[in-house]
Amino acid sequence: MRWQLGRRSQNVEDRRGGSGGGFSIPGGVRMSRGARRGGLGGLGLIVFVLIAMFLGVDPSMLFQDQTVSTGPDTIGTPRSGAGDELGDFVSVVLADTEDTWRELFDRMGGRYREPTLVLFSGQVSSACGFASAAMGPFYCPADQKVYIDLEFYRDLRERFRAPGDFAQAYVIAHEVGHHVQNLLGIAGEVQKLRQQAGEAEANALSVMMELQADCFAGIWAHHAHEARQILEEGDVEEGLNAAAAIGDDRMQRRTQGYVVPDAFTHGSSEQRVRWFREGLVSGDLKACNTFEAGGR
Ligand SMILES: [Zn+2]
Repeated sequence: MRWQLGRRSQNVEDRRGGSGGGFSIPGGVRMSRGARRGGLGGLGLIVFVLIAMFLGVDPSMLFQDQTVSTGPDTIGTPRSGAGDELGDFVSVVLADTEDTWRELFDRMGGRYREPTLVLFSGQVSSACGFASAAMGPFYCPADQKVYIDLEFYRDLRERFRAPGDFAQAYVIAHEVGHHVQNLLGIAGEVQKLRQQAGEAEANALSVMMELQADCFAGIWAHHAHEARQILEEGDVEEGLNAAAAIGDDRMQRRTQGYVVPDAFTHGSSEQRVRWFREGLVSGDLKACNTFEAGGR
């Protein structure tokens, strides 16, 4: 992937190696958590509970976005700003999704609100609750932030055998895809449906959401390449390989030795590849109607 000369995003919040007492925002201003919450106090808690209910029929949807059971995770040594190539890479990918989705929202007559990307190590507190790195990267609709521990990329490369920078970019683009679903109101509509659904049906809806986020990731790659020629030979294969590697069937086979399609929450390898490719080839939001297609 050609990324080195790309723009860096202003929306990366680096909480790696911190004590958890505060966070820094771009420009070097440092605030305590209390200051940021601005006295929300009890209201914040209620909002959190509502959000948990909102997404909470199955909390795994919140915290196990890429369902990875890695067991005890080795926590990486905190990186300094210098020589932080991976952090730099993620910042460029995020910036590229911003440029791409801003343009696409403009064309639809809307306004794209940029999400924040939080880098953390080991564990993190979000508006959706507390999360550990073992749960994988996730998007929290309540604070519109994407959370990722970059150690996940080692898992992706070594455990899931999905190496390559474009595989890594796909992970970010998928989470940003959830943000787009949030902005478009799709997440809210689906939640209403999930509340009336039984467990198998709720899982099916979750799969359709995930496949759409894959399709949106493909849309990003399509337009980013059209505008900035980011793709190099082998990149598409890297992305498709990553989509397949984190499919539910492969995950289940890996963790429990057999496959239970009703328990799928993200889609099979074949489905994930199919929908990522759908977005990649068409570049068209309308092609990502996974709900109409029943996720197939
Ligand atoms: Zn997802």
